[in-house]
Amino acid sequence: MADALQNTYNRLPVAFVRGQGAWLWDTEGRRYLDALSGIAVCGLGHSHPKIASAIADQAHTLIHTSNLYRIPLQEKLARRLCALSGMDQAFFCNSGAEANEAAIKLARLHGHRRGIERPKIIVMEGSFHGRTLATLTATGNARIQRGFEPLVDGFVRVPFGDSTAVADYRNDPDVAAILVEPITGEGGIRIPPDGYLRDLRALATENDWLLMLDEIQAGIGRTGEWFAYQHEEMLPDVLSLAKGLGNGMPIGASLVAGRAVDLFTPGSHGTTFGGNPLACRAALAVLDVMQAEGLREEAARQGAQLLRLLAERLGDRPEVVQIRGRGLMLGIELDRPAAELVRAALDQGLLLNVTAERVIRLLPPLIINDAQVTEIADTVSDIVADLINKEERQRISA
Ligand SMILES: *Cc1c(COP(=O)(O)O)cnc(C)c1O
Repeated sequence: MADALQNTYNRLPVAFVRGQGAWLWDTEGRRYLDALSGIAVCGLGHSHPKIASAIADQAHTLIHTSNLYRIPLQEKLARRLCALSGMDQAFFCNSGAEANEAAIKLARLHGHRRGIERPKIIVMEGSFHGRTLATLTATGNARIQRGFEPLVDGFVRVPFGDSTAVADYRNDPDVAAILVEPITGEGGIRIPPDGYLRDLRALATENDWLLMLDEIQAGIGRTGEWFAYQHEEMLPDVLSLAKGLGNGMPIGASLVAGRAVDLFTPGSHGTTFGGNPLACRAALAVLDVMQAEGLREEAARQGAQLLRLLAERLGDRPEVVQIRGRGLMLGIELDRPAAELVRAALDQGLLLNVTAERVIRLLPPLIINDAQVTEIADTVSDIVADLINKEERQRISA
């Protein structure tokens, strides 16, 4: 029983015992197609042999030392990530929230360096940045903040996707940074208008703000580019990564470029576990497999195919507000609450998620194949049709 666990999740009544690629098996031996990847974590699918053997080999060699010593695998991973991203330096931690904590601390340091006594960070409505006190304060969702007051000082909020709302802060001398997801994850797979990130880049440069991108969900190939900002050919000052970086091995990273380099100095930030040899070996293996198997390109190709199939099957339904996505980060917005579809999909052997109440969220592994993409599109259209028909029958009989 789960009664020895603190009550933080309403868990579905299923437990998985084994995985292979995009498939999971439960305790009863039933097979499920995983269209969620442990929330954008297992991009290479489950039990990838190259990841498994890299982790096993490293576990037999050296798991942990300390950041008091040099860690060659950490230095190598930093160089690889900088080469892929165009950023200059990395700090490694253990989760997304920790990566964003590092970003928030960098913003404060940048503000103080500019002589701002109480620096502010511009954050967005409907955003998600984590569950620590600072990151839940940055998060644009009252339900996540409720009960945890007093929240952290120094955040101001504007609508997502609206760079003119950010531009309105040009005359506020206390602003030090912008923190934004290039595509919202928990907030309902919202894709901002073209040019949004470039506009924010220009505003940040003009006003000496740090532009800090939270790519914890969108990064590491998921949108069809290594990083979602690469669709817009711009560069942030701070980049938060986690989820897909370790394919399930806990690792986060805060990358910096330009004005954000050298803000931290010895003693100003740290971590016991962050960037240990085991986690870095796993992340290096993830990057190797991504490149060897062309998974970024696959995410673009299969994502476009899934979007097309979903549009074919659901596009004409007036109850479907919008089908949107970039690469393998997709949302189907309905005109009604859709939470019950998680259970309906599970019953059909498909794992997905509903976020922002009305948005079916699909985050399949980047190794997904054509047949699996078709299966996802078929099952999702079936359960959406069932939901609409059921509610229609209830309306008529009422
Ligand atoms: C998941 C997520 C986080 C938090 O990451 P944790 O590893 O759960 O702390 C932060 N930002 C975004 C965009 C996320 O998707």
